[in-house]
Amino acid sequence: MREVDIMIVGAGPSGMSTALHLAQQGPKWAERTVVVDKAIYPREKLCGGAVSLFGTRILENLGLDFEPNHVTVNEIRILFEDYTYIFPEKSILRITRRDEFDHWLVRCGEKRGIEVRQGEEVIEVVAESQGIKVTTDSDTYLAKVLVAADGANSFVKRQLKWSNDSRIAHLLEIMTPENPEERFEFREGVAVFDFTPMMKGLQGYYWDFPNLVNGKPTMNRGVFDSRIHRDLPRIHLKDEFEVQLSRRGRNLSEYHLKGHPIHWFDAKAEFSRPHTLLVGDAAGTDPLLGEGIPFALAYGGAAALEIVEGWERGDFSFSTYKARVLEYSLLEQLRHRASVARFLYRLPKRPWLLKYFLKFFPDIFNFLAKYKPRYIPAKSPRMIRGNLMDTQ
Ligand SMILES: Cc1cc2nc3c(=O)[nH]c(=O)nc-3n(C[C@H](O)[C@H](O)[C@H](O)COP(=O)(O)OP(=O)(O)OC[C@H]3O[C@@H](n4cnc5c(N)ncnc54)[C@H](O)[C@@H]3O)c2cc1C
Repeated sequence: MREVDIMIVGAGPSGMSTALHLAQQGPKWAERTVVVDKAIYPREKLCGGAVSLFGTRILENLGLDFEPNHVTVNEIRILFEDYTYIFPEKSILRITRRDEFDHWLVRCGEKRGIEVRQGEEVIEVVAESQGIKVTTDSDTYLAKVLVAADGANSFVKRQLKWSNDSRIAHLLEIMTPENPEERFEFREGVAVFDFTPMMKGLQGYYWDFPNLVNGKPTMNRGVFDSRIHRDLPRIHLKDEFEVQLSRRGRNLSEYHLKGHPIHWFDAKAEFSRPHTLLVGDAAGTDPLLGEGIPFALAYGGAAALEIVEGWERGDFSFSTYKARVLEYSLLEQLRHRASVARFLYRLPKRPWLLKYFLKFFPDIFNFLAKYKPRYIPAKSPRMIRGNLMDTQ
């Protein structure tokens, strides 16, 4: 049995961010850390690939310049029935491919001395008094600290019999090749979020993100259903996706449809146990927009601090981790986003309130920007009466 100080299961953004934040504390922390992932990088990961300014700031703080190929978005366009809100902001999103982005993070970690064991699958996890026994398909480890960074369907959580909650959002996605001259999204660097299907029961939105796949302009199109209100009737997600695509002149049957869940954040949930911490999707992410990459990166920062302090005190209970998560820069937003999601996705049931909300949305936004400036990554929105869906 190999004894390791810190073992991270999953080399996605939350796992590599934990490792990179540890390495930032000094080279000895990199040497003490082992990351295992069942995949070999570059590996496919279903995702819109939109990394917001929140995420790029965390990468900058880690000393990383955003290197993977991407399309820079300078305007977010939010649609709702006959309203359009335009948020201009330089580089507000970078739309990348997750295979490239995640591979880049792994390479950055390796350059900083972190051991990343690719193609090694964790098959058993057992809590013991001195640490966590982790069995993979090629080795057995006793980890003093185990970080579960293994995504929305976390195997570690299931093995450790973590409470089986149902905070699950659903997402569907296709990729459509595009002529960039004909699409304003490519020409002007615009990402579209269309909330109109909320009126039919979608607790989320439809998106169009301009992207590059092997250098070729391709639109990443998808739907996000947070399902934060389980008492409201469920929309049939695939049928609604089909409707939204046909409004945009696309036929779903001609593309390869893929789906994956997101596990969303609940402040009441359990984030740690003795010797074990959850990060990223395993811990829970944003139910408002399904934005997961920046939060995954932020969890890495919180977990690294908790580990370093735990080690200094010789205390591996990690009893302070939840409070740290709730207060940590960016992660503090998660519970507010959950409240906004609860409010927003019930609005169609209150048409009078919805009417006022739509009208005063820019004022509400400006108020928020004043009250919580670090929550707001964009300038004041411009409201236009009319739906700019088909702007060429
Ligand atoms: C369709 C879709 C679109 C999305 N679009 C966006 C977007 O545009 N912007 C955004 O910010 N977020 C988006 N998200 C959310 C984002 O993808 C996730 O929040 C993010 O990937 C979470 O990172 P993570 O590191 O926690 O987990 P993951 O990226 O899921 O990484 C988990 C890793 O664990 C490994 N693993 C799992 N089990 C084991 C095991 N037993 N042994 C070893 N390794 C294991 C996996 O191989 C994987 O590499 C989207 C999600 C979906 C589903």
